Amino acid sequence: MPELPEVETFKRYLDSTSLHRLITNVEVQDSYVLKRVSARELSRRLKGRRFERSHRHGKHLFVRASDDLWLRLHFGMTGSLEYLKHEEIAPKTARVIFRFTNSSRLAFDDQRKFGEIELIKNVDEFLQTSGLGPDALEIGFSQFKAMLGNHRGAVKAILLNQQLIAGIGNLYADEILFPARMHPATDAAGFGDEDLARLFRATRYVLEKAIALKTDFNRLPKSWLLTHRGKRGKCPRCGRALKSATISSRTSWFCTHCQRRI
Ligand SMILES: [Zn+2]
Repeated sequence: MPELPEVETFKRYLDSTSLHRLITNVEVQDSYVLKRVSARELSRRLKGRRFERSHRHGKHLFVRASDDLWLRLHFGMTGSLEYLKHEEIAPKTARVIFRFTNSSRLAFDDQRKFGEIELIKNVDEFLQTSGLGPDALEIGFSQFKAMLGNHRGAVKAILLNQQLIAGIGNLYADEILFPARMHPATDAAGFGDEDLARLFRATRYVLEKAIALKTDFNRLPKSWLLTHRGKRGKCPRCGRALKSATISSRTSWFCTHCQRRI
């Protein structure tokens, strides 16, 4: 499931391939991903415009087409973007294809169809209405500290709560807790300043590193949990067997030796 680092990678990809090109058509192969807009309306509103710039917040990507016209993309479980030149064939599961003047296209590919495409007027208004918390890479330490200080419960549940901090999903929450040396079920109410600082640093480190590596699984450090999680997985730090548990209804992987409940 695309989380903040994947969506940031899509943003950079879209910026480098699809900005400033005249949109000649929008082909909707499957209107299931369209939210509050019809295929006809989407095409009519975007035709003749250009994507001018993009903005990411949490797992949402916003692409500006004019002052009060933004495309909102959410990648659901399996969404991704693919830029196609000339004769390159679009993936079978491409749901919406933005066609540009030089016969190139940008495909919104989404096998499982949990993705979302919507037209909105104003990004700030959308963020307010949807109640999303600050972006996990934009939040400063004092805000992070206040956010955690005001909430009790499993630290992992807090990291996953998009209303408190936006962008972190199941995989990266586990990954952040690993270098922070915290068990995912630790009650955040007991955190001291040092714990909070360690968690904040781990959050930034993991998200920034994943973005720098373009979230390429094969390039992720072997010292990370992500490349070891799963049955028979061993802790890359101490070599003991990793454990799993369901925490806030998601499967968590962790090492009980390296990650203690504080
Ligand atoms: Zn360990």
